[in-house]
This record gives sequence, C-alpha cells and structure tokens, in this order.
Amino acid sequence: MHNVRLYELFGICIFASQKYAVLVQLHDLTFTPFISEAEINAGIEEVATKVNADFKDKNPVFLGVLNGAFLFAAELIKRFEGDCEVSFVKMSSYEGTNSSGTVNSLLGLNQSLKGRNVVVIEDIVDTGNTLESIDKILRAEEVKQYKIATLFYKPESYKKSLHIDYVGIAIPNDFIVGYGLDYNGLGRNLTQVYKLKETDNMTNIVLFGPPGAGKGTQADILKNEYDLKHISTGDVFRYNIKNETELGKMAKSYMDQGKLVPDTVTIDMLKTEVRNDLSGKGFIFDGFPRTVAQADALEEFLNEEGTQVSAMIALEVDDEVLVERLLERGKTSGRSDDANEEVVRKRIKIYYEETAILKQFYLKQNKYYGVDGVGSIEEITERLKEVIDGLA
Ligand code: AMP
Repeated sequence: MHNVRLYELFGICIFASQKYAVLVQLHDLTFTPFISEAEINAGIEEVATKVNADFKDKNPVFLGVLNGAFLFAAELIKRFEGDCEVSFVKMSSYEGTNSSGTVNSLLGLNQSLKGRNVVVIEDIVDTGNTLESIDKILRAEEVKQYKIATLFYKPESYKKSLHIDYVGIAIPNDFIVGYGLDYNGLGRNLTQVYKLKETDNMTNIVLFGPPGAGKGTQADILKNEYDLKHISTGDVFRYNIKNETELGKMAKSYMDQGKLVPDTVTIDMLKTEVRNDLSGKGFIFDGFPRTVAQADALEEFLNEEGTQVSAMIALEVDDEVLVERLLERGKTSGRSDDANEEVVRKRIKIYYEETAILKQFYLKQNKYYGVDGVGSIEEITERLKEVIDGLA
C-alpha cells in the first residue's frame, strides 16, 4: 500500500511514495532518506544512558543550542532521571549548505552558570566552530565542568581539538536535514534525516524492439562501449530455467508458449538485478519493460534510487525479417522458443499487442528514439551510439 505523506502542508513536497524511499524537495534542493527514526532513537538512547551515568546526581544545567537541537534536547532531557535545569541558547554558523566559518555570539543565556555542571546539547557537530565559541563562553562563565552531547557528528569535517563527550550518530560529510536540522528554514519537522541527493550521472537505456530485432547483439557491444550493466530479463529467466530454480520452473511454462511471465515476478527479479549494480555507470535494459505496469514500476524504482530512464531506443525491423532471423537463430541457439514458427509469430504478436504501447509511454516523456534495425551489426551500432552520445 502506498504511504503518501502530505508534507505539502508544511511547505515540503514529497514526490514519491514509500515511507523510507521518498524524495523531499526543500526550496531548490532534493533530499533522499538517510537515517531512519529507529536509528535516531537508538542514538539518543545511547547518549541518554551515558549522560544519566555521569550526571544523575549532579543537578546539571542542560544547555540546548537552538534552533537545530530542540528535538534532540527534548528527547534527551525526557530520558534524564535526576534533577536538572534547562536553558536554551542561540547561535548560528550555517548559511545554506556550507558552513560559513563565522559564528555569532551566544544569545538567551539568562542564568549564571558559575560552578555548575553543564551539558551542552547540539544537533550536529560539523567543523566545530560553534563548539569553540561555546567553549570560550563557558570558560568565561567559570562553570564547574561541561560536557558536549551531539546527536550527529561529522568526523571528516571536524577540525578542532575539543573533545566531544557523547555522540549519537557519526555521519559522513553530507549535508543533512530533518529531525531539527534545516535547509534555509525548512525541514526541521521531518521525523527522519535526509541527505542532499547526488546528481544523477547514470545512463539507463531501455533497448526496445520486437523479438529478433537484435537487442541482445547490440546490448553486448554497447555495454562495453559505455561501461554499462546489461540486464536481459530473458537471459535471467533462461539462466534460472537451466539451473532449475523455482523461478525458472515457474517462468518456463509461460516462455514455452511465447507468453509473458507475470509482471510481479519479472519486476521483483529485475529489482534484484539492478540493486546489485547501482554504483555503476548505468544499465541497458533488454527485454524490460514489456508492459505498462513494468514501465511504471521501473520509473518508481529508479526514482527511489535517485536515477531514471535516460532513453528508450527502439530497433525497428519488419515482421517478416524478424521471423526469418529468429528461425535462423533457432537452428543454432538452442532456444526452443526460436525454433517453432508458430511460437515466433506469437511472440511478435504479443509484442505488438502488449509491448509496443510502451512507445507512447516514453514518447510522452520525450525519451523515445527510433533506430532503423536493418543493416550490418556495425551500422546499427553506429546509429545507436549517435543517439546515446546525443543524450548528454
Ligand atoms: P527474450 O529473450 O527477451 O525474447 O525473452 C524470452 C521470454 O522471456 C519472453 O517471451 C517471455 O516469456 C520472458 N520474458 C522476458 N522478459 C520479460 C518481461 N519483461 N516480462 C515478461 N516476460 C518476459
């Protein structure tokens, strides 16, 4: 079931669906899910246990650093088991996504901290500039001792020597929002943490065309040329049939008749294949999608992973040429669905009935490119490369 959360109410727009796989748009930037609520809570519990052990009987002053620490401060202080006082101070060292390096003075401290045990509560320790200013101020206040508790900590970015006593979660050097942290004012109310979405550098090609159009041959060449991962759903099914897996046994009955394997099975299988190679330069999808449901699923899935289909490139070949090619291939390929003219014609018919509709799907997105699939292998490769090179 879809779980669409209406963050539009807060000026935030969510444009995908599953709970931990949604993109969040704040002003001009897009963010992807990074740290779940459960992980945040585990970090808070860990800090709370240590703070209790060190300060339970010391009547500390908790000094929450606004604005970002308000949620963490509330959760940490709720878990504190002794007497305590609470103050909030304000400092800001952030403008936009880069630490500006300048830190303002402390605002809002309206009690003396002289001789007190102080726990500074920070949302995030990044360069450490804010901490350095706080350190100076607390020394001038002549506190008895102070410790620093931070929910998030960026070790790669921290450049100061002050010791950080309690860390909820150490994170890489990404710009994050949510759980108190904002981007130009927005995002503080998000209950999990998101990080800035990396720009999509992947090239994902849907190689399209009727059976026998030459998709497999061309995909083999193009994958080396562009360093892409070639996923042929037909090949994956055949591999499973050969190895007599449950998936293979299930798919075989459909394939032998030239019919499509059910969408749910095919989509799950494709997702598994894609997830294995998400860090690469991109994919050539060969034989997928074949139905609108598959195209929808691919779009949603790639969006969740921060990427998208770059283009559908269709090899256009006449039916009679296809039949001839497939029967010829059947003499040597060992593929039973190529050897029988009736099955071959059935596969081509299904292509026009169920699959050709996808041309409209990608045409609407301006991603459809038709390429003449008749000629020598080299000629056709050149035509395909011209399209791919033009995509950038
Ligand atoms: P192919 O090698 O692409 O011609 O695929 C051979 C057979 O595998 C097809 O006739 C279908 O039975 C099955 N198949 C491959 N890809 C898909 C898909 N995307 N959806 C459903 N069935 C598929």
